[in-house]
Amino acid sequence: MSQHRYLLSEDRIPKAWYNINADMPVAPAPVLHPGTLEPITPDFLSVLFPMSLIQQEMSPERWVEIPEPVREIYRLWRPTPLIRAVRLEKELDTPAHIYFKYEGSSPVGSHKPNTAVAQAFYNKEAGTKALTTETGAGQWGSSLAMACHFFGLALEIYMVKVSYHQKPYRRVIMQTYGAEVHASPTDRTHYGRSVLAQSPDSPGSLGMAISEAVEVAATSGGTKKYSLGSVLNHVLMHQTVIGLEALEQMEMAGEYPDVIIGCAGGGSNFAGFAYPFVWKNLKDGQRTRVVAVEPDSCPTLTKGVYTFDYGDAAATAPVVKMHTLGHTFIPPGIHAGGLRYHGMAPSVSALVDHGDIEARAVGQLETFAAAVQFIRSEGIIPAPESAHAVRAAIDEALVCKRDGVKKVIVFNLSGHGHFDMMAYDAYLGGQLENYAYPAEHVAEAMGHLPKV
Ligand SMILES: *Cc1c(COP(=O)(O)O)cnc(C)c1O
Repeated sequence: MSQHRYLLSEDRIPKAWYNINADMPVAPAPVLHPGTLEPITPDFLSVLFPMSLIQQEMSPERWVEIPEPVREIYRLWRPTPLIRAVRLEKELDTPAHIYFKYEGSSPVGSHKPNTAVAQAFYNKEAGTKALTTETGAGQWGSSLAMACHFFGLALEIYMVKVSYHQKPYRRVIMQTYGAEVHASPTDRTHYGRSVLAQSPDSPGSLGMAISEAVEVAATSGGTKKYSLGSVLNHVLMHQTVIGLEALEQMEMAGEYPDVIIGCAGGGSNFAGFAYPFVWKNLKDGQRTRVVAVEPDSCPTLTKGVYTFDYGDAAATAPVVKMHTLGHTFIPPGIHAGGLRYHGMAPSVSALVDHGDIEARAVGQLETFAAAVQFIRSEGIIPAPESAHAVRAAIDEALVCKRDGVKKVIVFNLSGHGHFDMMAYDAYLGGQLENYAYPAEHVAEAMGHLPKV
């Protein structure tokens, strides 16, 4: 092992996921039925999810055992490395120590298989034959396509139309794993047809694709279930293998983080990485700062309102209390495809609201500048989503330099950017711009909130 790579052996893959429900400093808000706005029952959810995942969603247990067939597949790429970015530290001339946990080492290149494999397993165990899901740029779709194939499940994917056409490589990956991929909005669903009737050239959105995938599962007469790649409690919990490994790797490194950083779209890689450290803050009195980073162009935590909203564009998904830009949000064409959801995981929102987690928004240009600096010093090409965490980590390290203080900064590099080189091309060619989402748009969208 080289000096600055902290590698765990296979038997150190965590045996249980960490469930922050057990330690939340604030009581969870009820999840509401989108029609009646009354608290939902497990019955409503059981149309979409197997009972085992619904139980995990609501479980108060701190530790949930990871089934052996899931750990066996995790062994294909876990434990992932924790690396000290020594060359970046030198380049920045900072006294800070910068570490990153590298989730780009999974077969599809991101953290998303950590939950895809678990969800496919529980569905298989419950007798599900097929899953439906949505995908933006295709990272989630390719993760679930791999997982479904491993467990012998069919998969129908609704892919945001603009990505379907602009990012064909991940579509082909999904198809290669054996999944069926449709450009959303489609004419296959009632909701998709209604969107197309109004705007035939709709580029689609994650919210629309969710509505289509949910409709297909909900009207399948029980043959198909639905799977979501972020936002839900059980998804965040499955991702905690990242932070649990990182805790142990920081122990190997002989340091403890002063600052933990992750990028936040729906909140899953951020929470999966950060919650074990939040737990140490809450239970052991550690004082680590925990920072969620989002794009200026989709500033859910920093400009959104903490309130009840629908999880999808069609207002058919449950209503949850979260930071939201409004379910009518149509994202601007930024390159961080995985960070364009209108809402946020409810537990992340609650912890931001309660002051346990900080939130920051960064611009697209500064984000790519940080990514290029990282690439040129560490060699790894971050996904544009992950580059938001790189930006924030570099900013923290520069503050350390200015103040002459040594801090330990640890961030999650949620995925590699090998399929995002058109975005880098646009950046290098000077074609990218900054775009801050206007506060007036948020205020306008608040007029469409459910009347809770
Ligand atoms: C999907 C994705 C994200 C954003 O999703 P979260 O649920 O917020 O983690 C971030 N990074 C990468 C590489 C992704 O694929």
